Amino acid sequence: MISISEAFKIIKRETFSIDVETIDLEESIGRVLAEDVFTDMDLPPFDRSQMDGFALRTKDVEEANKEKPIKLKIIGESVAGKGFDGKIKRSEAVRIMTGARIPDGTDAVQKKELAREFQNENNESLVEIFAPTKSRQNIIKRGEEIKKGAKVFAKGEIINDQMIAALASFGYAKVKVSKKPRVAILATGSEIVDIRQKPKRDQIRNSNSIMLKVFAENCGAEAEVLPIVKDEIQNLKSEIQNCHSACDVLIISGGVSVGDYDFTKPALRELGAEIFFEKVSLKPGKPTVFAKLGDKLIFGLPGNPVSVAVTFYLFVRFALLTMQGAKNCELNSGFAVLDVPIKGAKERDSFLPVSVETNKKGILTVKTLRWSSSSNFIAFARANALVFVSKNKIYEAGSIVKIALL
Ligand code: AMP
Ligand code: MG
Repeated sequence: MISISEAFKIIKRETFSIDVETIDLEESIGRVLAEDVFTDMDLPPFDRSQMDGFALRTKDVEEANKEKPIKLKIIGESVAGKGFDGKIKRSEAVRIMTGARIPDGTDAVQKKELAREFQNENNESLVEIFAPTKSRQNIIKRGEEIKKGAKVFAKGEIINDQMIAALASFGYAKVKVSKKPRVAILATGSEIVDIRQKPKRDQIRNSNSIMLKVFAENCGAEAEVLPIVKDEIQNLKSEIQNCHSACDVLIISGGVSVGDYDFTKPALRELGAEIFFEKVSLKPGKPTVFAKLGDKLIFGLPGNPVSVAVTFYLFVRFALLTMQGAKNCELNSGFAVLDVPIKGAKERDSFLPVSVETNKKGILTVKTLRWSSSSNFIAFARANALVFVSKNKIYEAGSIVKIALL
């Protein structure tokens, strides 16, 4: 039996990197950046108004107040997309809109609400300013948000929703990312039927394959579900053989324990696969298998849906992200406070699915799920984290524990 950290080391050592491709920005969510991202312009590209109002010289309105407003002559307009090109002189102002360029000679914008525009007898436009300004008031200076040539994202970052606007702003209509690892998913078990079928006596639906497909796709992979294989070694061998060239990673669920009909390991051995580990000090997930056939990675996960989920989140996700060159291949981790006591398992460290939430004091709290066994995927449906429980250790309610966020 190997430790969880040894398992990670072996997976890292055996995982190859995948090629790079260029794709449309809108297709890039969840993909790993294969290039550093730089700005190609200052933002804002010019001194920009933050308000609708009047661009003016602070000096001219020093004495302004409600009772004695200062009058300025409006000599033009600066709108978003078409700034005012002239230069302002003493006692002049330019009507300006949010997002527009600040005219030369002005150093502040007074907002519309503190001004009143009117026309004099000569039909000239004037404005009364009711309050003084400070220099730079309501102005965002050129390059204040970011300067041209700055690095905004690094190779290895996973693109998420929040990054899209920044990428778009600097012209990344296409981005260079690692190719999608091709994943094949194979559920084994003579009791397993397709989810569109009504299970007969002794049967259950195949919840693992679709879950694994979704999980893998969320890690930037392209996943294909193969037909269910009965607990029969010849069929299992030929299915494994068949997908040989068509995938980078094969995930097999079920059949990895010590039962008389658990054929995953014998099938892999007979095909000449190299098995790197087959027992991990982990609960749930002890009989997890990691092997290689040619240069294809093979994971054999214990069939219980919760074991499948936990071992995927820990190991398969790690391999898929490592392949794509991600900087952080492990789940984000942190600490939280336990709401009830937990007892560690004998001889194995546990990663138990839990729900974490912040309480009224702002403390991140672990709400343990009603946990009866590793097959409890109804409780698992509410999980948003895994809590790490050291083997043989007793944790009192209120103790601080390590969590990994899902
Ligand atoms: P195994 O790892 O094959 O011993 O399976 C362990 C448990 O998980 C058994 O109760 C199986 O019925 C269940 N199981 C195995 N494969 C699946 C699957 N694809 N979908 C749902 N449950 C499964
Ligand atoms: Mg089975």
